[in-house]
Amino acid sequence: MGTDQHVAVTTYRNFPMVPRVVFGADSFSQLGDILTPKRKSVDAPFIFLVDDVFEGSSLAERIPLAYNDEVIFISANKEPKTAQVDALVAKITAAFSELPSGIIGIGGGTLLDLAKAVAIILTNKGGAAQYQGWDLVNNPAVYHVGIPTISGTGAEVSRTTVLLGPEKKLGINSDYTPFDQVVLDPNLTKGMSKEQWFYTGMDCYIHCIESLTGTFLNTFSQSYGEKALELCKEVYLGDLSPEDARNKLMMASWHGGMSIAYSQVGVAHAMSYGLSYLLGVRHGIGNCLVFQYLEEFYPEGVKIFNEMLKKHEIKLPKGICSYLNDSDFDTMIKVSMGMEPLWENALGKHWRDRITPKKLRSIFEKI
Ligand code: NAD
Ligand code: ZN
Repeated sequence: MGTDQHVAVTTYRNFPMVPRVVFGADSFSQLGDILTPKRKSVDAPFIFLVDDVFEGSSLAERIPLAYNDEVIFISANKEPKTAQVDALVAKITAAFSELPSGIIGIGGGTLLDLAKAVAIILTNKGGAAQYQGWDLVNNPAVYHVGIPTISGTGAEVSRTTVLLGPEKKLGINSDYTPFDQVVLDPNLTKGMSKEQWFYTGMDCYIHCIESLTGTFLNTFSQSYGEKALELCKEVYLGDLSPEDARNKLMMASWHGGMSIAYSQVGVAHAMSYGLSYLLGVRHGIGNCLVFQYLEEFYPEGVKIFNEMLKKHEIKLPKGICSYLNDSDFDTMIKVSMGMEPLWENALGKHWRDRITPKKLRSIFEKI
């Protein structure tokens, strides 16, 4: 064979994973032992960003504080914003003479994303908005730990932190974004409303469907996606004990997150970003609102989703888009259609042949 022949070489993505994880009921009690060796000095505190739903709770009392460590309670009622990240970073840098030893996020996707973003912006100049995008972060983040209290988003394993900025809702996707440590304690997920448990869990289910039916699928994603889907079906259609259901949903979230890391999400996420951008509809419920009308794209997935809705007697809100005007619809359609990799994953390179503004409007109008 001649030496002048060129072989086409595929470049595969080399992405980081969470290096350390603890799983188990009440593993939260080990947090003190995990953090102690990571303390840089008595003047470098651990900052705990905690969902304010836990203010005054036994969980808050169990946070292992020492020296000048601080707990900041934050509401998860609104999705995280770049300005909120900047304000937290300013507050932390003004209060302490040294960089924190670590940032620990305790809560759902909202608090996990805030913790990741604060850890990044503490060591990277400028505001969070300038890092929204892919691989724009220059310096390693401060040590950061994620402790989910609700299962589904996969934010505990992902390489992104989704933020609403002045111009766009977009993640800080970088090799420095994933947590250095995750604590998976299923007991922390006790006590949320059935609706919230359903919506956030369905985020995981929809990750699986969108990953497994997408054109970007590969064996790596498939192996995680299939496991996560199986676990979701057990949790939402099976007859598990509450303890088993908590354990399995926590691992479904993890595997679902791993599945989309090496592939992509699809139609429901692209459209739900539009809803969220215009109306502030939360991620989990937004995905459900869209997904129910996507039988054309995900026939089997929507059929099972409807069975889950029925079994848990979840009534999705109606008429969300009934008061919108043309310009509102155009905004949502523009945001949705801007999510090109999601559409390409869902429908292939020629997705524009099937997805038109008119088509998206007809779906949004049903919601
Ligand atoms: P969330 O953090 O928005 O919380 C939802 C509600 O549940 C809040 O009212 C919160 O106070 C409450 N809650 C949380 N844990 C509770 C508990 N144990 N008991 C009682 N109430 C509890 O929920 P979420 O659905 O996990 O996160 C949504 C966010 O995650 C969105 O901002 C979305 O953009 C983001 N997200 C990020 C990624 C990622 O990879 N980074 C992926 C998907 C979604
Ligand atoms: Zn999602």
